[in-house]
Amino acid sequence: MLNIVLFGPPGAGKGTQSEKLIAKYGFTHLSTGDIFRYNTKNKTELGQLAQSYMDKGELVPDEVTIAMLESEVEKSNTSKGFIFDGFPRTIPQAEALDKFLAGRGQSIAVMTALEVPEPELIKRLLLRGADSGRADDTDESIIKNRIQVYNDQTAVVANYYSAQNKFRAINGIGSIDEIFDRLCAVIDAVEETK
Ligand code: AMP
Repeated sequence: MLNIVLFGPPGAGKGTQSEKLIAKYGFTHLSTGDIFRYNTKNKTELGQLAQSYMDKGELVPDEVTIAMLESEVEKSNTSKGFIFDGFPRTIPQAEALDKFLAGRGQSIAVMTALEVPEPELIKRLLLRGADSGRADDTDESIIKNRIQVYNDQTAVVANYYSAQNKFRAINGIGSIDEIFDRLCAVIDAVEETK
């Protein structure tokens, strides 16, 4: 059982790489963005609350996000472990996750971050928006706000895992397979020490 945080700014390729990691390692994928989108699409109470934040590219409040994530973990029956994608995005979320996992006799093995320069992120997100129609990917001012929010509130989460010697950054530029190989090298190295 290996729990991994896949980290990086919007557009870094977390979703794409998560799919490949699941196929190879059998992890259970928990993407808070996907769960919020599912809830907004189905007009649940949670979805309606989240929508106003997502539309602006702001973070959904910690207490709502943490409660949702914990209930998703509780619902899942995983033997291989989780890939947390898009969570934690703030220090309180990281602290809550550690505490919650510790209560279940588990922990985060590694946070691996995809590093991609900002102009490339904007290019990728606009491309994705043209394809997926995701509202927060089609408007450049919302994209820029999401990157700003990442720089202001989320980037510091790397320091939190760094202090635990669990932070591994990789180059997020290259072909999907090249980036995947870099991620696998990080995961395999962690697995070997288990
Ligand atoms: P993503 O698909 O990860 O880019 O997330 C899309 C949107 O969902 C974000 O811009 C936030 O509004 C919201 N969201 C996703 N994950 C979180 C999180 N961990 N904390 C707060 N808001 C989140």
